[in-house]
Amino acid sequence: MSSPGAYRVDPLPSPVPTSVIDPVVIVGAGPAGLTAAYELVLRGVHPVVLDQDCRVGGLAQTAEYRGFHFDIGGHRFFTKVPAVEQMWRRMLGPDFLTRKRLSRIYYRGRLFEYPLKPIDALLNLGVPLGISVVFSYLRARIRPIRPEVSFADWVTNRFGRTLYRVFFESYTAKVWGLKGEEIRAQWAAQRIKGLSLRATMVAMLRRTFARHRGTTIKTLIGEFEYPRLGPGMMWEAFRRTIEQGGGRIELDSRVVGIEHDGTRIRAVAIERTAEQTTYPVGHVISTMPIRDLVDALCPKPPPEIVAAAHRLRYRDFITVALIIDQESVFQDNWIYIHDPRVKVGRIQNFKNWSPDMVPDQSRTCLGLEYFCSEGDDIWNLPDAGLVELAKEELGFLGLAQVARVLDGTVLRMLKAYPVYDEGYEAALDLVRTYLAGFANLQLIGRNGMHKYNNQDHSMVTAILAVRNLFGEQHDLWAINADDEYHEMTTEPAAASEAEAISRGDLRRLSASQPLVPTAVKNGRPT
Ligand SMILES: Cc1cc2nc3c(=O)[nH]c(=O)nc-3n(C[C@H](O)[C@H](O)[C@H](O)COP(=O)(O)OP(=O)(O)OC[C@H]3O[C@@H](n4cnc5c(N)ncnc54)[C@H](O)[C@@H]3O)c2cc1C
Repeated sequence: MSSPGAYRVDPLPSPVPTSVIDPVVIVGAGPAGLTAAYELVLRGVHPVVLDQDCRVGGLAQTAEYRGFHFDIGGHRFFTKVPAVEQMWRRMLGPDFLTRKRLSRIYYRGRLFEYPLKPIDALLNLGVPLGISVVFSYLRARIRPIRPEVSFADWVTNRFGRTLYRVFFESYTAKVWGLKGEEIRAQWAAQRIKGLSLRATMVAMLRRTFARHRGTTIKTLIGEFEYPRLGPGMMWEAFRRTIEQGGGRIELDSRVVGIEHDGTRIRAVAIERTAEQTTYPVGHVISTMPIRDLVDALCPKPPPEIVAAAHRLRYRDFITVALIIDQESVFQDNWIYIHDPRVKVGRIQNFKNWSPDMVPDQSRTCLGLEYFCSEGDDIWNLPDAGLVELAKEELGFLGLAQVARVLDGTVLRMLKAYPVYDEGYEAALDLVRTYLAGFANLQLIGRNGMHKYNNQDHSMVTAILAVRNLFGEQHDLWAINADDEYHEMTTEPAAASEAEAISRGDLRRLSASQPLVPTAVKNGRPT
């Protein structure tokens, strides 16, 4: 096995002359862009990767403040695609750790284990709330809400109003900025398939007995993989490998112009400090948000395409990292904050993800996460105000003593979540069809395809996009569909045995991606 960060680059035989695609420009040094660059380097092509940020990794980057590491949201590494898993392992070697998961739900001073356990949940609810659970459940069974339109209706009908309030209402509103009544019931039906209170209780009891008998249930093993210094360590290792293989990664380079002749992209212009530089291109692989890509096109696309691109919306994200003068604050990797009295949505304890995330074991670094939208009240707070808010809310929740907070910093991340609202699909289709007219442009990744995905999905779109450059014909958008993925070629030739990605892998990949709620319009599903 190669040493960490020095994954060997042995160029693979290339079936097409690289002059046909050279130079390849990749927009974005997140998981998708770096995977594409890595795959190209393996094939002897030397791409240029341009990113507006000062560090690699995109949403999966790791920031550092006074030696404390923290990520955007805490990134677990898990995948159903063996080729991706192997890539991760070979890239980091022993620095790719297997960690235990502990996460709980905080609601009005109570902590509930998550996944829920019956005895823990019952004890924590207490007598008054417990009685309310029983009565609201019975009421929902006798008089269910009809028609069942919204997420709130769906959950209330199966669990009762009280459990809806404790476990669903406030967190959903924080993450998506939508009330449960505004979200389509279909989202709940997909997320919580086949569940009712009875089925949940039976499943929880079975788990409890299985644990007492010493048997383990796979889904509850509660382990995940994580780089020793956070996800950024993985993407730094990709960066080094790409550069060793002859690729270039240029940071602080914001793509502001994409020049085209109507059928091909001719050049990409970036702004770095005050200067503009233009790169001629043979092929472009883009992971930048579709809306920004359309705005950068020069000449401008027809007005209906620009309007459709502007229909695509995003949810933004703020992490307030607080350094606490305390060896241990809580044991969880993260806690979901369902309490409606505070704005914070989730709290990460990065030391519990990996001890090396902190430089001094007598201290802790917590990441208080605020889901928001650019321009809203939270987003508009200055950084100092956000640190104060985070301290105040941490104290209110009683999870740490405010007096022990030594320092704090803020990381804002625009376009953290692509939003699936009314009409987004039609808008996306229109823009996609227009962009498909450029023969040398491929869109991959999360915001690159307006797809709410995990890292592995972004990486697979990158791997297949590179294979397209070498004669294969993969429909990258078909990976997202729930139905069976199909290539346009009959026999996709994997570059090596290790890289083989089967149709089954792609189906499992698609099925394992997170689900996004869609909005209800005028009380009717849209
Ligand atoms: C809170 C949160 C938690 C998550 N947790 C997990 C998890 O536990 N496990 C998991 O696998 N995934 C997780 N994800 C998802 C994961 O972060 C994404 O799937 C992954 O980062 C997408 O990679 P990407 O390369 O497609 O896009 P991005 O990571 O968004 O990278 C795109 C890059 O393009 C750059 N860019 C954008 N515009 C321009 C421009 N004009 N010019 C130049 N560069 C530009 C950006 O700076 C960025 O670096 C999480 C995401 C969030 C927001």
